Amino acid sequence: MSALIGELEKLPTVGPKTAARLAFYLLSASKEDVEALSRALLDLKAKVRFCSRCYSLTEADPCSICSDARRDGSLICVVGEAKDVYAIERTMSYRGRYHVLGGLISPIEGVGVEQLKIAELVERVRKDGVTEAIIATNPNAEGESTALYLARLLAPLNVKVTRLAYGLPFGGDLDYADEVTLTRALEGRRAL
Ligand SMILES: [Zn+2]
Repeated sequence: MSALIGELEKLPTVGPKTAARLAFYLLSASKEDVEALSRALLDLKAKVRFCSRCYSLTEADPCSICSDARRDGSLICVVGEAKDVYAIERTMSYRGRYHVLGGLISPIEGVGVEQLKIAELVERVRKDGVTEAIIATNPNAEGESTALYLARLLAPLNVKVTRLAYGLPFGGDLDYADEVTLTRALEGRRAL
């Protein structure tokens, strides 16, 4: 029990009190539920990998979004991290596809264009009939400079480049935005 509490405490936003509460909850949960949770945890490391098209996280390659024929392939939403895909999916207001860069351009942290899936993005825009690229990088310094870089890079490719209109304070994180704010940001996107 104390080993479990110790492990739970390592999770973000979980303090000692919450860790103990979760451990006691799991103790009272059914054997099936606890087994399902353990399996999901083990599968996370064993099965989850990057989608070879959009570089989001997936268990099947290509991911369910890339392989869903009902999604609009002419619309591509460019995000920094895979968790941003989940944030936008939670709004249920976006029907296009995604491209995960795997980070943002950050000279301070030594992240340059070469480390990100930018060449792959250009390739997709060129070949997949993309008509609009929505740059949904975080509203902070790295997100802004990455967005401007991508806008310049994509400009000659005959694609409309837009940026989310944030109802968020500058410096925020896409992942923390609530669904309504994110939906508004998507709807109010502006040309870059
Ligand atoms: Zn994918």
